[in-house]
Amino acid sequence: MGEKGEKRIVAKFGTNLLTAGTERLDLEVMATLVGQVARLHQLGLEVIIVSSGAIAAGRQKLGLSSERRDIPSRQVMAAVGQSALMHSYEQLFGWHGITVAQTLLTKGDLSDRLGYLNARNTLLALLELGVVPIVNENDAVAVDEIEGVAFGDNDNLSGMVANLVDADLLVLLGDVAGLYTTDPLKDKSARLIPRVDRIDAGIERLAGGTRGRGHGGMATKVQAAKLATASGAAVVIADGREHDIILRLVGGESIGTLFPAATSKMESRKRFLLAGLATRGRLVVDDGAVVALKEQNRSLLPAGIRAVAGDFQRGDVVDIVSERGRGGGESEKGEKIACGISNYSSWELALIKGARSDRIEALLGYGYGDEVVHRNNLVVL
Ligand code: GLU
Repeated sequence: MGEKGEKRIVAKFGTNLLTAGTERLDLEVMATLVGQVARLHQLGLEVIIVSSGAIAAGRQKLGLSSERRDIPSRQVMAAVGQSALMHSYEQLFGWHGITVAQTLLTKGDLSDRLGYLNARNTLLALLELGVVPIVNENDAVAVDEIEGVAFGDNDNLSGMVANLVDADLLVLLGDVAGLYTTDPLKDKSARLIPRVDRIDAGIERLAGGTRGRGHGGMATKVQAAKLATASGAAVVIADGREHDIILRLVGGESIGTLFPAATSKMESRKRFLLAGLATRGRLVVDDGAVVALKEQNRSLLPAGIRAVAGDFQRGDVVDIVSERGRGGGESEKGEKIACGISNYSSWELALIKGARSDRIEALLGYGYGDEVVHRNNLVVL
């Protein structure tokens, strides 16, 4: 565990860092970064990597000039380069005895409730297995038709991933030391801002005006920081070429620009589950389930469900209410004790409620896991 208690870390590596400013992946740089992640892994921390570099690797393989920047060409290069990128990670992590997983996401997937749930479940399951997920945008299918979201912006993607997995810390590593008072490439008197407590319009303006090289400039980094800090993660923008940068940051050293978390993770999750997302249904649960959820931090299993109300899909938010009120009287029936994302739809639950989890597959012919609402997706009120 890091000195500040960080347990789950998202580390984003930008193209300029991975290529050391050249046209190809720099294996030495990658080995250094992988070595640090492996060290954290050995210490019991969970790390998710968001890695760029697919387009650069593909460009090199196809021998295409750096002039080719149109979206279709970049999609082709990314498709070719992604496997080369993963091949390098697989080898480098293999030396440390660590298994990696390729996770290609689009921002559209994550804006959709079901996509969000599936991606979250997969990433959390990978972490539980001790695997290091390596996320990149699924460039071959990603399009920039989603309003306000640009193609090929792994900064924002990493902010979404930090939110998705309830990360404690997001480190955005590129070849710029952090956020400066003015553009350091143009202005010699530019000063590094070590800490930003609130991302206000002034900071956003500053970031917009100090766009770094590559497309992951400061503007997108600050957007990512805004999302991640609002999700309860601390964020650091730093130069990935600094010696042992990730280890030192996790150790509490102040390097680069720190954006402290703007809220607690619990508060953020609560807000996410409660805000704007009308709950679609209600699960009435028995006393055993009430104790399991409220006192033992457990997941809700089908066995504890007595009744299902409403018409909802897998991925929708549902209220969980107790069968009996505190006093046990009829009039207090239906005290709301929690809410969370359901892994099963209302009609599936009608078939499996009351059943043991090992019966789910027999009853439905398929299953989405033992839990109806996993404790990771649950807020007890
Ligand atoms: N997905 C792109 C790649 O792998 C990078 C996008 C970005 O750097 O923001 O090359």
